Amino acid sequence: MRRSVTVFPKLTDKEVSAIVETRKQYARTFNMSAECLINNSSTSKRFLHKVQYERIKEECPSLPTGLIQCARDVAVEAVKAWNAKKAKLRQKHPKKAERMKSPSMKERCTMRYDVRTITLRGSQLTFSTCDRRIRTIISIPEFFSERYPETEGWKLKGANIGMDRNGRVFVNLIYECPDPVIEENNDGKIVGLDRGVYNIVTTSEGVHYGAKDARRVKRRYNHVRSELQEKGTRSAKRRLMAISGCEKRFVLDQNHCISKKLANADDVSVYVLEDLSSMNMLKLKGKSNKTMRKWLSNWSYSDLEAKLSYKCQMNGIRVEFVDARYTSQKCSVCKTIDKDSRKGNRYVCRHCGSRMHADTNAAINIRDSYITRALKPGQAAVNQPYGWSATGRPETEPVDKTLTSKPSGLP
Ligand SMILES: [Zn+2]
Repeated sequence: MRRSVTVFPKLTDKEVSAIVETRKQYARTFNMSAECLINNSSTSKRFLHKVQYERIKEECPSLPTGLIQCARDVAVEAVKAWNAKKAKLRQKHPKKAERMKSPSMKERCTMRYDVRTITLRGSQLTFSTCDRRIRTIISIPEFFSERYPETEGWKLKGANIGMDRNGRVFVNLIYECPDPVIEENNDGKIVGLDRGVYNIVTTSEGVHYGAKDARRVKRRYNHVRSELQEKGTRSAKRRLMAISGCEKRFVLDQNHCISKKLANADDVSVYVLEDLSSMNMLKLKGKSNKTMRKWLSNWSYSDLEAKLSYKCQMNGIRVEFVDARYTSQKCSVCKTIDKDSRKGNRYVCRHCGSRMHADTNAAINIRDSYITRALKPGQAAVNQPYGWSATGRPETEPVDKTLTSKPSGLP
């Protein structure tokens, strides 16, 4: 489990220019390494060291060895990811795959530091640069040191150092702690969550989150944006840049608030979400309205998912994923799939006549498809709730507790 916190140390001009120079040489090292790996179709760190070390030392004479290693590690990871992406793309679009740009780093990059190149003693932070090691005093926000104390195993694992748009040097400290063992908690409910159109999140119990306000603010941003785009003057473009930042921060803040509320529920043991990768255009097509489709694709659900996952991990709630197909078309009572039963935000079943909010209906389907999947033999061992009733309460004791170790579906 990792958490990070950003601090802005006070540095002299000389120190800042040392960082600027370090970044240049760091980027050069990255680019040389990535190029070498791709040309030799290798992803081996040892190979890279053998072939490249002397050359890098010549080209970037003042870059500390520790940072050369960091840049090289990052390059190996980037090339691995690039290879995987290329292989996937090649299956569908071979020509596009050949045109894919190889990984490269600009001079305005963010550098990764590890324990060899950065140390924190008390509030004294020391890190290597081209010039010499910079020593500075930082203050870590109280909320962070209180929540993730060293006494509970939180250790500094490394950092990212870079500069923001205003030329301020930032240090993003990364702390790590062994993953907590999530206790099998069978007392709580299983709650399905639907990430929807009319509400950002709806639970299977019919609670809506982020409905009115979020929609109003988002609509205002959309309106202002389209007006500014029409104008197209230079100042309009500047304003567009500024509001895109505001809008992003608004979404992130809303996601924080919603995930916090959900993670703090004390009677829940599992949250079931729809798998984002299966939430493709098929699902979006179901939401017929064009503006609604736009609104749905505008919200950062992957961010919400990440925030919910890590907050739930802290509170011992598991997060599981299920296939998202037909969740909004199926009736949650009689399980008939009929897309005509859905009218806007109402779901009125044409077969059994049950009525409810369309998002609640979808959330119940998500919860139920998790429960049925968990009940299937073979998968039951992995997805703990064996013998759970549809209401989310256990009917019988889990058969074999030793088989139920890790929560599946967690990224
Ligand atoms: Zn029905």
